[in-house]
Amino acid sequence: MKEPEMNTTHPNCSTCPVFTPSERPKDECGVFGLYKHPEAAQITYFGLYALQHRGQESAGISVNRGINDKIFSHKGMGLVPEIFNMDDLKRIEGGSAIGHVRYSTTGDSVLANAQPFVVNHRHRSYALAHNGNLVNAHIIREELEEQGSIFQTTMDSEVFLHLFIKNLIKGDYESAILKAVSKLEGAYSMILLTCKGEIIGMKDPNGFRPLALGKLNGHYVLASETCAFDLIQAEFIRELAPGEIVIISEDGIKSIKHPNAAAKKSLCIFEYIYFARPDSTIDGKNVYEMRKAHGRRLAQESHVDADLVMPFPDSGNYAAIGYAAESGIPFEMAMIRNHYVGRSFIQPTQSMRDFAVRVKLNPVRELIKGKDIIIVEDSIIRGTTAKTRVKALKELGAGKIHMRVSCPPHKFPCYYGIDFSSKGELIAAQKPLDELTEYLGLDSLHYLSIEGMLEASGVNDPEANFCKACFDGTYPVPFDPNFTKQCMG
Ligand code: SF4
Repeated sequence: MKEPEMNTTHPNCSTCPVFTPSERPKDECGVFGLYKHPEAAQITYFGLYALQHRGQESAGISVNRGINDKIFSHKGMGLVPEIFNMDDLKRIEGGSAIGHVRYSTTGDSVLANAQPFVVNHRHRSYALAHNGNLVNAHIIREELEEQGSIFQTTMDSEVFLHLFIKNLIKGDYESAILKAVSKLEGAYSMILLTCKGEIIGMKDPNGFRPLALGKLNGHYVLASETCAFDLIQAEFIRELAPGEIVIISEDGIKSIKHPNAAAKKSLCIFEYIYFARPDSTIDGKNVYEMRKAHGRRLAQESHVDADLVMPFPDSGNYAAIGYAAESGIPFEMAMIRNHYVGRSFIQPTQSMRDFAVRVKLNPVRELIKGKDIIIVEDSIIRGTTAKTRVKALKELGAGKIHMRVSCPPHKFPCYYGIDFSSKGELIAAQKPLDELTEYLGLDSLHYLSIEGMLEASGVNDPEANFCKACFDGTYPVPFDPNFTKQCMG
């Protein structure tokens, strides 16, 4: 039987300079795993499809087929449907599967860094899919290289596999995993696949990134977000606890605790504001409902008279619905999104770069002309897109334009897996509110307060502790800013 091609490339990769650049923060990664299912690879494909919003640079699926202790992979650059076809997937069926969609936060955007990352050791293979960012990977890597380790990629995730293999004595996965994760600092929700088909899910002690456990017709499944379970019709069981490690094998499921499991829970609050899909539920809280609650609170904090409330679709949709409901001001979809603009939209020339923004959204002039408008956005990172869109509304004869943002100003970089990595990229760190209001061409600008964000997110719930470092600079896990973002790239 023909074996699948390994590491298939796709020409439409996001490293191509003619593709539309986006100033939106990039999602970090999505992971998926299914334990011993006759259609594990095909179901993993659909799981990745549901998680595509978490990474669009590359994707991969690795499968243990019970053949010679090997793991078979199919990876490529681009979107999930560009990389896989059903014939490829059928050829690697059998056993357990893990999958990954990636946007690089450390490491270059090249095929070598596409995950799952597969290593071979003593005639046995292991594959890893990682979501997050290890803040001490450079230190571990240096130590390991001094001891003779040779690294194949620039990814932070690779250090975990080195540590795991180093500590793997007589196939004792549990002890090797515990020793390996005890060295890691930072954010990780990871899934490891062994050549025997065991699947091991791991969440860091702070629980920065989501990772949910479910069951599909009796087969355990893990996914970054519950929307993947909905698509494959799996039953949601629970979110992994911070610092929880689950080992899924022929003996069933075993849950063990990370050696540092007592760390303070710090779930990334930006998952709710922006990253996760609105149909996902994280830690018992539905993302759509959470965004609406942020919008409601924003309306309470920043009332202004206007004729309509509108989002820039799709980012502000749900907060805008909440804002309109709370304020009593009508909600309108006064900008229409072109759903057929893909990654392959080419900017004709530099002088025509406005097209890159305009092609995606077009205002409904009849709704705009002569109206006072409240635009609800979920975040402002660099501000250039918002500025262009506000200008377009003014040109159509809008009256007053107010912007309301459903999170506090981003003033600090993220070191736990999100791509706004320097203060220079964050316009709210560069300009005070009045200057920013003028720069964006607005009549008024208001951000949700940190207190409002936490209260609307249910922070009175003792279980709900969030990372909010990009808003207030209080980082839950210490790091060296000189190395954390540079070490692997
Ligand atoms: S710094 Fe911001 S984006 Fe990064 S993990 Fe914390 S809340 Fe999320």
